[in-house]
Formats: sequence, structure tokens, C-alpha cells
Amino acid sequence: MIVILKPQAEAGRVSALMEQIKRLGVDIHYSQGTTETILGLVGDTAHVDVDWLRASDIVADVRRVSEPYKLANRRFHPQDTQVTVSGRRIGEGAFCVIAGPCSVESEEQLLQVASAVKASGATCLRGGAFKPRTSPYSFQGLENEGLRLLLEARRITGLPIVTEIMSETQLDDFADVDIIQVGARNMQNFRLLKALGHSRKPVLLKRGLSATIEELLMSAEYVLAGGNPNVILCERGIRTFEKMIRNNLDISAVPVIKEKSHLPVLIDPSHAAGIAWMVKPLARTAVAAGADGLMIEVHNNPSCALCDGAQSLDPAQFDLLMQDIRRRAAFEEKVMS
Ligand code: PEP
Ligand code: MN
Repeated sequence: MIVILKPQAEAGRVSALMEQIKRLGVDIHYSQGTTETILGLVGDTAHVDVDWLRASDIVADVRRVSEPYKLANRRFHPQDTQVTVSGRRIGEGAFCVIAGPCSVESEEQLLQVASAVKASGATCLRGGAFKPRTSPYSFQGLENEGLRLLLEARRITGLPIVTEIMSETQLDDFADVDIIQVGARNMQNFRLLKALGHSRKPVLLKRGLSATIEELLMSAEYVLAGGNPNVILCERGIRTFEKMIRNNLDISAVPVIKEKSHLPVLIDPSHAAGIAWMVKPLARTAVAAGADGLMIEVHNNPSCALCDGAQSLDPAQFDLLMQDIRRRAAFEEKVMS
């Protein structure tokens, strides 16, 4: 980290600031040029608050040269992380497909979709029991009954289950869930992230609607910092000025995250597209870009879905997609998990 001091900064104030910085456990290279005095902070600067330094009236500017995340950083963990879920591998050469309805609606609906996605080769079953809806009047999910149905679907199909948590107070109720999803709207729910850090459950962390990649990695850092290494990231589209699609799938997030971090990264083309016909072309890009898998919404009768029907594939469309993805994964020398 580089701290550029104002030219008129008094020597006494500069030494006092340097003492304060050193107390944070970093070394300082002091360099006085003809026009500028610069403090080069070396060591672990993750704990140094850029805003705190900027607030000092002798500081002209502060620039980070290394990333503020450490545990999520590939620089300190060059090997890809692989998360294992009930014997299935996610990341590091394996390609997974998580599929299922946006929300669990009934036993019949969930079991039909679960057996269909299993037959097509899905790795895990998804389904929302607690739904974060924009309108309080929209279907909010079956809640604990939805969790019970997911566990039943797992018992019948053997597929591990993925479902979204809304609050840290639900952790006990999610004890039997295989992968806990943190949705886009909760990506910066820091109390929830800290609580998940104290568990060892795999966490599927979705990128916030308007979050930068660095903010996503900082949220992952919260979970990792609590001692939970099982974090899977998910790009699901971000908000831009474009109106023709629900969200802009930021496919460039895949190579960027792969470069910056060792964590597995999935693509959710369903929430990006917002419409079913666009799911397949976007899903194909995930394989080519080097993603570790996909999350796809599938409904037995999309036109009657209580949530996200327009973007849901029916089982036949999902099966065709899986055939296509399998061929592409083989071409990219990825093993389907
Ligand atoms: C979902 O997966 O159903 C969901 C609500 O996704 P997101 O948080 O990405 O909007
Ligand atoms: Mn959805």
C-alpha cells in the first residue's frame, strides 16, 4: 500500500502517523522525493483501513497495490480449491451442474423435477424454500415445509441439495442441507457470512446485483476468515443499463476470478437471462470461459411456476442442454461431476 503525503505535512505529524501505522504490524519504507513524500507500507496490509488513512489531513492519497483479500487470494493459495459435497467434487477440473426449481412448490413438483434432473445427469438439486422476493405480496416459499421436501427429494434421488438461507438464525434448520446458498441480495449480509464462517458447510455465494468482483471476493473472505474453506462462488448477472436481458451475465468474471482466486466459480445463466431461450447460449459460454459448473432453473411446468417461470427450462429442454454441455465439457477436458 502506498500513502502519498501532502507536501506541507509537518514532520511531527508524519512521525506520529508512521507510529500509528507500525502499530498495525506493517513496516514502512519512507521516501522523500523533490515534490512528494511517500510511505510504502509492506507486510500484511489487509488490516489497514484505506479510509482511515484518507481521513488524515496530512494524507493526499492512498493506493492499494495488493488485494485486500488474503485467504481468497490465489497468490497465497496457488492450488485450485475443490469442494467435496457428499462424494461429489466441485472445482479443480470437475464440472458440476446444480439444477432444480426456483422455489419448492409442492411434493409432486419437486419430486418430478428432482428425478428428471437426476436422469439428465445433474450433480445437485436446487430449490428455494425461503424466497427473497422484491414484493412482499409474491410467493415467499414453503419455508420449513420446503426444507422437509428437499430432504425427502434427496432421500429418494440421492442428489445433494442446495437451498438459500436468509438469516444466521436459520443455521440450525439448515443443518442437513448439503450446500447453503447465499443469494445475491444477501452477499453483503456480514452477520450471515460470519456465522457461515463458523460452520463447515459448503457455501454457494452469489454475486450481488451491483457488486464488483472484489466485493464478491471480500464477502468470500468473511466466510474463509471464520475458518470455513468450503466456498463456491457464483456469477449470476449484474445490473447494467441494458434492458433486453434481466441481468448482464458478466462472463469476464470467470477468468478474472480464476486469476485472482483459487475458489471454484459457477455460472447461473437463468437469473442472468431472465428468459428460457437464452439459458442455453449463456450456459455454453460458461464451459468455454473455464467455469467450474452451472446452476440452472428447471420446472416441470414453467408456465405455472410460482417464481421465475419465464427463465425456467422444462425437463426436456434441460436434458438437451445437458447433452450439449457434456460434449463441450469433454472438449474442454473437464470431467462432469
Ligand atoms: C435463486 O437462486 O433463486 C435466486 C434468488 O438467485 P439470486 O440470489 O441470484 O437472485
Ligand atoms: Mn430464481
